[in-house]
Amino acid sequence: MIYILTGGPATGKGTRANILAEALNIPHIATGDMLRKVALKNAEIREKLQKGELISDDVITHLLEERIKEDDCKNGFVLDGYPRTYRQAELLDEILQKQGRKITKVMELVIPDELAFRRILERKKCGYCGAMYGIDFPPKVEDVCDKCGGHLTVRTDDTKETLAKRIETYRKNSRKILDFYKEKGLLLTVDASSNPESVVEDAKV
Ligand code: ADP
Repeated sequence: MIYILTGGPATGKGTRANILAEALNIPHIATGDMLRKVALKNAEIREKLQKGELISDDVITHLLEERIKEDDCKNGFVLDGYPRTYRQAELLDEILQKQGRKITKVMELVIPDELAFRRILERKKCGYCGAMYGIDFPPKVEDVCDKCGGHLTVRTDDTKETLAKRIETYRKNSRKILDFYKEKGLLLTVDASSNPESVVEDAKV
């Protein structure tokens, strides 16, 4: 059971990946989380993440290859944040082939742009403990963190302009990757406007 969840900004990849991983009792592998962990010990990766640059295809693929060899991945895993380039899609095929495994399904999450804007522009973060809030999970008291009472603020990179650019970049970069999986008959396009639990049903083959 190897699933890839892909989608533009604010489509809720992480949420659905978590639900699916839990339902199938397999790990949720988010390459962003993996890299942030590596960055604690690796200055080069730390610098790239801080600048918002992509990690090279070879480096991230090597990390992923090692991760999916671990015991907890023996029944499968849910990938979130990878592949981000066409080359990564090709490399993933190569490493899975080496391990004698196959992708089960690729789910592309799609939401109307208007909803992406609302989700992101209304997303707030606690300046103290880092908890996140948004239109689907507002705090009990406006601008106050439920968990620690800290003050909630919007992310500085969450502006209309940067978001429009991120959506455009996603569309441009993902087209070739999605076609690659479509040709293999692995792609399912999902309306991700609501009901994240439906990912379990969508995952069935
Ligand atoms: P975001 O959605 O803000 O990009 P992520 O947690 O998915 O957040 O990723 C954080 C950072 O980690 C990215 O900006 C990028 O630098 C790096 N990263 C994550 N996944 C990949 C990948 N598959 N290839 C290259 N770099 C990646």
